[in-house]
Amino acid sequence: MKIDAAVAYAGQAEFALEQVELADPNLDEILVKIAGVGICHTDLFMRDMAGALFTHPAVFGHEGAGTVIAIGANVRKVAVGDEVAITFRSCGECRNCSVGPAAYCENFPALNMSGARTDGTRALSGSKGALEGNFFGQSSFASHCLAYESNVVKVAKGIPTQIAGPLGCAVQTGAGAVLNSLDAQSGSSIVIMGGGPVGLSAVMAAKLRGCETIVLVEPQAARREFAEAHGATHTIDPLALDDVKAALKQIVPTGLDFAFDTTGLESVIGPAIGALKINGAIGLVGLSHKDADVPVKINRLSGAGVRIIGIIEGDSNPDDFLPYLMEQYLAGNLPFDEMITTYPFAEINRAIADQAAGKCIKAVLLL
Ligand SMILES: [Zn+2]
Ligand SMILES: [Zn+2]
Repeated sequence: MKIDAAVAYAGQAEFALEQVELADPNLDEILVKIAGVGICHTDLFMRDMAGALFTHPAVFGHEGAGTVIAIGANVRKVAVGDEVAITFRSCGECRNCSVGPAAYCENFPALNMSGARTDGTRALSGSKGALEGNFFGQSSFASHCLAYESNVVKVAKGIPTQIAGPLGCAVQTGAGAVLNSLDAQSGSSIVIMGGGPVGLSAVMAAKLRGCETIVLVEPQAARREFAEAHGATHTIDPLALDDVKAALKQIVPTGLDFAFDTTGLESVIGPAIGALKINGAIGLVGLSHKDADVPVKINRLSGAGVRIIGIIEGDSNPDDFLPYLMEQYLAGNLPFDEMITTYPFAEINRAIADQAAGKCIKAVLLL
C-alpha cells in the first residue's frame, strides 16, 4: 500500500516527506495506522549516524501508537480495531527473554536495528528502491507501520491513543529506571541529570515512589520549572555553578542514594557519581556521541561500593510495565501528557528544531 513516511538520507540534516510503498503484513505482522508518534533522541542519533549504525535511506520512529487495521494469520494478541502503543521488539525465546526483562533480549539488535523484517526482506520501498525500516520493529515516522506481537500493547480506555507512543520509549525508560532498575525506595534521595522527557519521567516516577529528595540538574529554566511542579524538591542550573557535585553535597551532605543520567556526557556523569553515598547507584541511559569512557576512580567502586548500571528501556517488560504506567497516568500519578506538544506530521523538521531549542519538551507528531 502507499503510505506517507519521513525518510532519512545520508548527509541530509532534515527528514524528507515522501510517499513510499509498505508491504502487506507477513504471518507474524500487525499493520497499524499511526495516530501519533513521539520524536526520541535515538531517532536523531540514528539519522546522524548514517552508515555507522543503520544504513540509509531509512525510516525511523519508535514511539508510535495507532489502530490495528490488519493482522497476519498467526497474530493472536490483538485484533483489527484495537488501539495500540508500540514499543521495542523482543524475541521471547532467548535466555535473557526467559528470565527478563525483555529489554535485554539477545536478539535486540536484529529485531530492532537491522533494517529488515524477520524473514530478511525490506517492507518499505521508495522511488529509488528498498528503504531500511523495521526500526524498533515499527519505523513509525509514517502513516502506517508493521509491528509484532512482542511490541504492541493495548492502550487503556481513557488514554488518547495519539499521545500513547512515548509510553513505549521515553516514559518507560525514565520511569522504569527509577522504579525497576534503581528501584528507588520511599524516603530515598535521587539526582536526575538532564530534564528532557526521560529525565522528567524519572522525576515523576521518583515522586510516585515517595522519594524524599528529588533533584533535577538541567540548564533550561522551563524544564526546571516543570520538574518543580511535578515532584522535584530541588533543581540546579549547572550553567550557573562551577561545581555541581558541591551543590549536590550541600543538599544531601551524606551523599545521595541514587543518580540517573540521561545525558551521556562524561562531564555530567562524573559529578553525579561523586555525589553518591557509600553503596549509592547511578543508572545510565544517555548515548554518548563520542562513545566516551565513564569517568570514575576504581576505588570509588571497590572502596565505596558505588554501582554503575547501564539501563535499556527502563528494564521494562512492556506487557506488564506499560499497563502499569497507563494505570498510574489514569490515577493522576504520571501526567506524562503535560510534557507533550503536538505537531502535524508534515512539520517533523520544525518539531525537531523546537525540541532542540527547548521550545517544547516532548514533540509528538499527529497523523
Ligand atoms: Zn529474546
Ligand atoms: Zn527512544
